[in-house]
Amino acid sequence: MLYFDHNATSPMHSETRKAWLDASTDYWLNPASPYRQAAAVQVRLESARSRVADILGCCNNQVVFNSGATEGNNTVLSFFNQACPARQKILVSPLEHPSVIESARLHLGKKMELLIIGHDGVVDLVAFGARLASGDIFAVSLMAANNETGILQPWAAVRDACTSVGVFYHCDAVQWLGKLSADGLGDCDFVTGCAHKFGGPMGCGFLKVSSGLENFSFMAGGIQEMGHRPGTENFPAVSAMLAALDVCKFADQGPRDVFERCIIKKIPGTVIIGHDVARLWNTSMLLLPEFLNTRWVNRLSRRECLVSTGSACATAKEGPSHVLAAMDISPEDASRAVRVSGSSFHEESDWLALADAFVTVFKEMSAEKKASPIGGSAIIEV
Ligand code: PLP
Repeated sequence: MLYFDHNATSPMHSETRKAWLDASTDYWLNPASPYRQAAAVQVRLESARSRVADILGCCNNQVVFNSGATEGNNTVLSFFNQACPARQKILVSPLEHPSVIESARLHLGKKMELLIIGHDGVVDLVAFGARLASGDIFAVSLMAANNETGILQPWAAVRDACTSVGVFYHCDAVQWLGKLSADGLGDCDFVTGCAHKFGGPMGCGFLKVSSGLENFSFMAGGIQEMGHRPGTENFPAVSAMLAALDVCKFADQGPRDVFERCIIKKIPGTVIIGHDVARLWNTSMLLLPEFLNTRWVNRLSRRECLVSTGSACATAKEGPSHVLAAMDISPEDASRAVRVSGSSFHEESDWLALADAFVTVFKEMSAEKKASPIGGSAIIEV
């Protein structure tokens, strides 16, 4: 199988599975239990916390383990809502994952205002600077790297601008972590991350919280995680998450670009979304010249090539991608968008084999279209 949907989820490596199994075998006690044996789990949990803090560049007590980024994002947006004074606004980018956008709609209502995005899928820094200068902004939420297009945002510049005027900055770094260096993320007030996007287990992640928010909690319950996040800590999952970070390799642009060149040459009319701006090295969002993206994904999966139409959270939902819509890409064009997301373990030969599969499927569907009296437009695939 050629698995090219790593932005949806990434499999665990043997080292990661071993870390999970070892912790489940030897350190399965409840870390909060009152006996000496449980303290050994607590000690290991704290050492994991300090390693995450080192990676991000923040203090240990600012790292909260949780169930993943959906929880982390909801926690932050709920805090913004509680803390934001009346008449102040929270700027949210329209490119965010649904766990930010929908959470902002739920928690913030009229306090939410959308950031301005250029056609290139990058936040407009000039417009942002002008809006920030008006003085009524309480917080900003802008992701580091987009899950659909791989386009990188100038989050460090936005962080610095926010810090200079005392505005909270939240960065959803889910797709950045494990692929690019985490340097500087610890200086953001809030950072969300989840393990399964970089080869860790599902249902485990972390939130970096701003200092001085000792009393803030999204949920009511026990006093775990310095009171920020009640619920028994999942040490085996945390242990596996750290092992996954250890195996992450920061690749260069190589094989993905070879794949794109090959597709552009062999499937004329294909456009690469974000080709002229900085993108994650593993992601390629193709606007194919013909055929619905669901047909492409279906045909490719029959050949054991797994790619996606966009965010896994949105595939069941009707309608085109909100990310492409924010970039002014028409719904008609967006219906031909296919996302390919590889890993650093893919060789150039894997990318080329995937390109071959695209070309074969293109020829197959084009031949069917020619042979069909109605041009194949009514073909519905299951
Ligand atoms: N943020 C981004 C950018 C994502 O890509 C995802 C998952 O696709 C999430 C948040 C939510 O992560 P999870 O579903 O693991 O909670």
